[in-house]
Amino acid sequence: MAKSATPTLHPSALVDLMGLMQQVLAGRGSVTFSVTGDLADNEYGCTWFDTNEVDLAEDLTGREFMETMAHELVHLVRGPAFEDEAAAEERIVERIANELLYGERTAARPALLIAHGGTR
Ligand SMILES: [Zn+2]
Repeated sequence: MAKSATPTLHPSALVDLMGLMQQVLAGRGSVTFSVTGDLADNEYGCTWFDTNEVDLAEDLTGREFMETMAHELVHLVRGPAFEDEAAAEERIVERIANELLYGERTAARPALLIAHGGTR
């Protein structure tokens, strides 16, 4: 997403983010989050699907941390993509994470369906 402007969080963003976390944990049992200095300069986070691990860059601002957590949690819900679909999957994950944090609240909001297991 563009870093030039600071968008306003959706009023239910925290609840929706916790719903996403709950769904991830229900599906995977546990997830390990680690802070690391080993990521590439342009990487804020990285998800390892086979081991349920998420690496987070050590120098993130609070907002970058929140956005990265939303992004990696959406990855964990959606699962891995094939190599030739990775770029398209990144765009989808980014759109859903942005919608969850900043988007309008509507019944059709895909991020809400993901964050709440498709039950609302
Ligand atoms: Zn990603």
